[in-house]
Amino acid sequence: MFLKQTGRIALISCHGDPAAEIGKEEAGGQNVYVRQVGEALAGLGWQVDMFTRKADANQPKIVEHAKGCRTIRLTAGPETFVPRDEIYGFVPEFVQALQHFQQEEGIQHPIVHTNYWISAAIGMELKRYQPIVQLHTYHSLGAVKYQNVSPIPMVAGTRLEVEKTVLKTAERIIATSPQEKEHMRSLMSPHGAIDIIPCGTDIEHFGTVSKAEARHALGIAPDEKVVLYVGRFDPRKGIETLVRAVAQSNAKESGKLRLIIGGGSRPGHSDGAERDRIEAIVEELEITDLTHFPGRLGREVLPTYYAAADVVVVPSHYEPFGLVTIEAMACHTPVVGSSVGGLLYTVAPEETGLLAPPKDVNAFQIAIDRILDNPEWAAKLGQNARSRVEAQFSWQGVAQQLSDLYIQLLNQEPDLKLA
Ligand code: UDP
Repeated sequence: MFLKQTGRIALISCHGDPAAEIGKEEAGGQNVYVRQVGEALAGLGWQVDMFTRKADANQPKIVEHAKGCRTIRLTAGPETFVPRDEIYGFVPEFVQALQHFQQEEGIQHPIVHTNYWISAAIGMELKRYQPIVQLHTYHSLGAVKYQNVSPIPMVAGTRLEVEKTVLKTAERIIATSPQEKEHMRSLMSPHGAIDIIPCGTDIEHFGTVSKAEARHALGIAPDEKVVLYVGRFDPRKGIETLVRAVAQSNAKESGKLRLIIGGGSRPGHSDGAERDRIEAIVEELEITDLTHFPGRLGREVLPTYYAAADVVVVPSHYEPFGLVTIEAMACHTPVVGSSVGGLLYTVAPEETGLLAPPKDVNAFQIAIDRILDNPEWAAKLGQNARSRVEAQFSWQGVAQQLSDLYIQLLNQEPDLKLA
């Protein structure tokens, strides 16, 4: 057992570049997950290579993040942004480029941890050419997502097939919440080995700024009521529900209500349509004065925004895990979330926040107002939220669980040697 942590791992995240700027276009939780897991595993002694598709000709091929942890951008298809549903066609090219890289460097990756269905296909293809242990994290399940999406995209059939196959063939599937595992079992297959290991957050980065300091830094008065959203502009995120709930909030009368919607790219990017739609609704509801769109929030300022807020709202229609939820909780801020997916796991209703049915504007408004109207109770919820994240959702804890699992799986494969 003693040398195992010095082994080499490939984390494959074909469309979610771990070195990308987070919060715009399609860069969100998956990018953060891969990067944080990668760095934490490197901290445990693993050599971590995070493979992604090169989506910009000007990007460097290799980005070193920390000792033993790097992003490697492989050329597969055009070196430009391609929407994720169109990337599947480049899977064979990606696999070839990966093998070429391995040959050039004289390395092997006995453990391949794939992320999202496109990378699942890459892992399965790679397995045809070399012995590997494949672990897979879905990040989103087509079987659930397509229940809420119309029209269903062309790629849906392929995606569902790949997702079902990897469930049966991967050495282990990582579900990030019990709810996600339940969806796999009820909607996909009774077969396949699934472990539950949640997503995590950096509890040292998130949670060190006090509410007073944060408000001072952002120029927000102590008596303002601040409702915050952080995330991508994507219809699945349910920002419309939040905007409509805020427009009918009781706190509006006080003139002290402020809604901050953080995230999104500059105009002209692929997430612009949803941003325009939301801005139009804000105007129609006549809440332009109290609504702010600061754009993409960098990692350094995020803890300040979370800490300054009275409540963070995660109104998603579907959310496999929801990193924003635990980031806010780590910053002592209660969360009002939709009663879906991973939010049922992370938010403890009446203890660390509240849940409301997705798309239910009235229920969101009532939940938001309950928190805004009761600052002492809200502070208690925030304390509990922090404790819950410390106990269950730190990256160190998550990476340790993954590391233990990699070792266990390798020990079951006597033919595989750690590089
Ligand atoms: N994020 C960010 N800046 C922004 C918006 C989002 O850094 O302006 C980050 C956020 O902190 C979180 C991730 O993007 O770590 C979103 O992950 P989540 O799981 O909540 O949603 P997903 O994007 O996976 O749907």
